[in-house]
Amino acid sequence: MESSRAPHRDPAAPAARHVVVIGGGIAGLAAAHRLLGAGVRVTLLEATARLGGKLWAGEIEGAPVDLGAESMLARRPEGVALAEAVGLGPRLQPPTATTASVWTRGRLRPMPRGHVMGVPGDPAALAGLLSEEGLARLAEEPGLPPTEIGDDIAVGAYVAERLGREVVDRLVEPLLGGVYAGDAYRISMKAAVPQLFGAARTHGSLLAAVRGLQSGQDPLAAARPVFAGVEGGVGRLADAVADAVRAAGGEIVLETPVLGLARRADGWHIRTTGRPLTADGVIMAAPAWAASVLLADESPAAAAGLATVEYASMALVTMAFRRADADPVLPDGSGFLVPPVDGRTIKASTFSTRKWGWTADAAPGLFLLRTSIGRYGEEEQLQREDAELVDVSLRDLGAATGLTARPVATEVTRWTDGLPQYPVGHLDRVARIREAVAKLPGLRVCGAAYDGVGIPACVASAQRAADEIIATSTPARGTARGAGE
Ligand SMILES: Cc1cc2nc3c(=O)[nH]c(=O)nc-3n(C[C@H](O)[C@H](O)[C@H](O)COP(=O)(O)OP(=O)(O)OC[C@H]3O[C@@H](n4cnc5c(N)ncnc54)[C@H](O)[C@@H]3O)c2cc1C
Repeated sequence: MESSRAPHRDPAAPAARHVVVIGGGIAGLAAAHRLLGAGVRVTLLEATARLGGKLWAGEIEGAPVDLGAESMLARRPEGVALAEAVGLGPRLQPPTATTASVWTRGRLRPMPRGHVMGVPGDPAALAGLLSEEGLARLAEEPGLPPTEIGDDIAVGAYVAERLGREVVDRLVEPLLGGVYAGDAYRISMKAAVPQLFGAARTHGSLLAAVRGLQSGQDPLAAARPVFAGVEGGVGRLADAVADAVRAAGGEIVLETPVLGLARRADGWHIRTTGRPLTADGVIMAAPAWAASVLLADESPAAAAGLATVEYASMALVTMAFRRADADPVLPDGSGFLVPPVDGRTIKASTFSTRKWGWTADAAPGLFLLRTSIGRYGEEEQLQREDAELVDVSLRDLGAATGLTARPVATEVTRWTDGLPQYPVGHLDRVARIREAVAKLPGLRVCGAAYDGVGIPACVASAQRAADEIIATSTPARGTARGAGE
């Protein structure tokens, strides 16, 4: 167990409010950081021995590498701003390769430019990627009658109706799958691609809606990098936020799963595998399945809503090759996506050494890449042993790129129940959960299950939860008390 020193406090001063944060992923860490900035006393409890959750700065063959999330959207401010606030500004790096491919219809084909989650403004952008019939179907779209969207619709259902299934199967599905490991025919357009949802409601034609979105883009903003990484790995963001939390006097306790929560007259009672705690407030930053169990007594309605959030599992196979073996063979670009319809096992490969300058510099003799395996509803692939996942990755990589070399090191990272699914109606579900949670004084929820799975969205939900606690939490209690009383 690891914990930082308790903050120095003048015994005569009134005690600060004490908030317990449950979960040490990026959401819990960001919430703790925000609370401390407002003078709140914080204890963060993490079930495992490692902070960061889905962020994990690891190593392969002595080289730093992300074993979980590896980049963050830079077009949203919250992730980059948090990185800057904890001193990582100089380490933020845009990807060095911005082109990618799609492995479909028997070969690698350039990922088209100028699309919104796979939906083009100009059908010509998909030439080469779609069959002639697929392209012809796309061209019919402006003449089709408007599609009824209602309050929400699955991205795949809507795009297939407007543009034909081929666009969904070859482009929308692998792009959405890259973010959610989900199924395009289930994922909510309102939750997952809100800009498309909004535009589609005001245009009869989807192609026209996307052109409208594209023409409304600020050219300066459009020229800025879409994604940012962190030198050494985006996982370092979690480590840096944790350092900042400790430096501000926050207490971080590892290997301490929370087992139960109860609200009493003197505040929240938090039962753990170690010492019990009391607090004025609680931020629940654990995944939905854990939050559901913990809230079952105090808010059966919130617990029931959280229990309906399904998760997809996946595995990442990270490999280090000798640079001389892989570099001349692998194509340019940051890697490739694989549409499920093409019947391969891997769903994507990221060429880390091409994508991130810091990776190339940190391991000049190596070529690092990773494959990902596993989508919602296709978890049977993950029953295989690690060695089989490596073999199947090598087979697919070889078929796609001609790579025949064996890696010098491999690392399989399994993310069981790693990504929450956002099916049609997700935003209503979240609103119902939040409504139930709002009845619990001093308790808020945050993290990937609510407003977006990406790092900036998780940070935003954490900051919102912290701000609400700061604004509404019960007044400080009269006497200073250490965590654990
Ligand atoms: C393989 C993978 C790759 C990804 N790649 C990207 C990417 O490149 N860019 C991007 O923006 N997003 C990416 N994502 C999504 C993003 O990383 C996650 O959605 C986000 O990090 C989730 O953060 P979180 O804090 O909500 O949850 P988590 O990271 O899941 O953290 C929750 C924490 O709560 C702890 N916990 C659970 N139960 C308890 C309990 N009872 N008591 C105490 N602690 C508990 C867990 O151990 C965990 O540490 C990726 C996700 C995965 C799985």
